[in-house]
Amino acid sequence: MTVDYTARKLEVNGIVQGVGFRPFVYNLANHYGLKGEVANTSTGVSIHIEGPPECIRSFETDLAAKCPPLAHVVDISGQSASVKPCADFKIVKSKDRAQMSTLISPDVSICADCLRELFDPADRRYLYPFINCTNCGPRYTIIDDIPYDRPRTSMRHFKMCAACQAEYDDPTNRRFHAQPNACAACGPHVGLYDPRREPVDCEDPIKAAADFISQGRIVAVKGLGGYHLAVDAQNNDAVMRLRHRKMREEKPFAVMSADLERIRQYALVGAEEEALLVSIQRPIVLLKKKTPCAIAAAVAPRNKYWGVMLPYTPLHYLLLNHGFSALVMTSANLTDEPIAIDNQDAFERLAGIADYFLTHNRDIYLRSDDSIVRHTAGQTRYIRRSRGFVPIPLFLERTVPPILACGAELKNTICLTKDDKAFLSQHIGDLENLRTLDFFKLTVEHLQRILEIHPQIIACDMHPDYLSSRYANEQQRIRKVEVQHHHAHIVSCMAEHRLKGAVIGLSFDGTGYGSDGAIWGGEVLIADAGQFERVAHLAYVSMPGGAAAIKEPWRMAIGYLHDAFGDNLQDLELPVLRQIESAKLRIIAEMIRKRVNCPQTSSLGRLFDGVAAIVGIRNRVNFEGQAAMELEMLAADDMDSIYDYEWLMGAGDCIRILPAPIIRGIVKDVRSGLSIAQISIKFHKTLIALFVELCTAVRRERDLKRVVLSGGCFQNCILLNGMIHELASRDFEVFAHQRIPTNDGGIALGQAMVAAAVSCL
Ligand code: ZN
Ligand code: ZN
Ligand code: FE
Repeated sequence: MTVDYTARKLEVNGIVQGVGFRPFVYNLANHYGLKGEVANTSTGVSIHIEGPPECIRSFETDLAAKCPPLAHVVDISGQSASVKPCADFKIVKSKDRAQMSTLISPDVSICADCLRELFDPADRRYLYPFINCTNCGPRYTIIDDIPYDRPRTSMRHFKMCAACQAEYDDPTNRRFHAQPNACAACGPHVGLYDPRREPVDCEDPIKAAADFISQGRIVAVKGLGGYHLAVDAQNNDAVMRLRHRKMREEKPFAVMSADLERIRQYALVGAEEEALLVSIQRPIVLLKKKTPCAIAAAVAPRNKYWGVMLPYTPLHYLLLNHGFSALVMTSANLTDEPIAIDNQDAFERLAGIADYFLTHNRDIYLRSDDSIVRHTAGQTRYIRRSRGFVPIPLFLERTVPPILACGAELKNTICLTKDDKAFLSQHIGDLENLRTLDFFKLTVEHLQRILEIHPQIIACDMHPDYLSSRYANEQQRIRKVEVQHHHAHIVSCMAEHRLKGAVIGLSFDGTGYGSDGAIWGGEVLIADAGQFERVAHLAYVSMPGGAAAIKEPWRMAIGYLHDAFGDNLQDLELPVLRQIESAKLRIIAEMIRKRVNCPQTSSLGRLFDGVAAIVGIRNRVNFEGQAAMELEMLAADDMDSIYDYEWLMGAGDCIRILPAPIIRGIVKDVRSGLSIAQISIKFHKTLIALFVELCTAVRRERDLKRVVLSGGCFQNCILLNGMIHELASRDFEVFAHQRIPTNDGGIALGQAMVAAAVSCL
């Protein structure tokens, strides 16, 4: 043995199992003529490599730079080792569970190699809708238990044919150990059915489904994480019929197009958006509309954006290959219910909605909705983090005990922690009905099993009536930590940025249960992971009728007008007041005066709703946040002036920000005929100026310069961009969400971190 023959031991941590990492290492070692072995460990893979030092160096460079697309390498550590010597390079088989990492890859889109084969008439998988390989296809949604191999996935029912098995067994093949490997001879297949579950007589179910869609029919299509309802996005009547049947009046539908070229015909695609669209996660990306364009207006009424995605399964590609400019692809559910995944369930629940069912016999074990992202304020921001991203963990700044955090009520997700990792679940939905609660419980149980987490602490929202909080209360023999909603928002953003110590937290959203029993949502906190102090908030106003005021923003308008003008509000001559019967108006004013069925709220989301109603945008909403969103969409680009604002020092040194001066200014502008566009931007700029000034005052007093922005209101791009820009220009360090949603979909992470901090005090 010469001196030019050395050995190294490398440890690779991250998601590197079940993603073709060991064959990649095997092929790389052979490429450089190196010897040694690769084996799984509980945290990743371990490599022993021997050979000439310069070859080992090249090997290490490539190891980091060229790893397989589904691998998620966290770090690689290396040290010199003694030469064994080895005769060749081997993949060592895993012998027991201790060598299995619990990190599982998310489901990702079909890769370029498989896509090429799909449309290659010479390939044995030509037009086969379930083509996949180690670099692509389903993972998380087909796994029943760990370790991840075929008998523990929904592929267990399909025995590989000899050709597929040979690929599966060959380390140099792209399908080596690809658990969902299949072909037309041995794998799952599609079928087209009518709502009575009778098969439709046709030669090619996908072509027949495409023909029905072209004729304006609604087809339920089984995808990766659940069913979609598909209609032709250019057919306004079909889209309206879908809205009617789904009981979804105005909430935007997502669309899918075969390629970027088609998308560019109806939307503006910047370089960042293009990268998001083509990424292997294939999220829905919000893109500015091009007008005029051929997409039906009913797809996303009163919205400046389309939600657009590229196909991510072979079946999608085959369906879109029939000449559609775009298909509406919306989660197949009735409004407020979870997306359908099970064939039986789909037929039962969607019979009144879908005209046909394009389905298949590969089961989905865990539903996962499409993720939604946008690029704004220089960053990608998640609106929903689900398919393609879950269950990739967030790596925390420190090790924490095993915790289950139950999330909030709306846009629920749960969070499980283990060591220095936090696993945020896929989108579960609004926990307002039993079906969603069942899905919540299923997700808790499933994630605990596949991640092997046995929680010692359970964290939940302070709200006593949330179904997630009730679930936490029902769990026996486990320590429970209740977390204030807006504190959790701020801490979730801190965890994402690994911030320690106290920060100024702006927690702006629609609804959260406050420590004083009021409904909070326009909160300035000084917070760290363990505690918070409320230093300022929007002054309380009445929500006439309680929850009804969320669905009917005109009630909030009355609440704010009464706050600003007292009992004289009838004389204001505003359109919103004329639209309401005077008797009803009197009753509401009486309710406010006597505080009957009028919870008090400091919510910024409600202020947006109230202003939207006062300027005449709408009195009722069809989905949460609609009025606020439309107020943002209608805003003019810029405006110099802002409204007067004012705050008062309240009890316990807590500042109360008065909405009344702003409301008076808006009423004056409405009556003088200023456009909604002008009023909207003026209102946005007022909030930005107000909160920047407030942060400056807090900094003077407390010597804190880090500001954390969280809560659903920061989905508003004008507010988010304005706050980031103005705070940064005054030398604040500003932190907003990037990898988890700013809405309640990210709150479980904050709950878990608060519980971790409290439990070690
Ligand atoms: Zn592939
Ligand atoms: Zn086969
Ligand atoms: Fe919230």
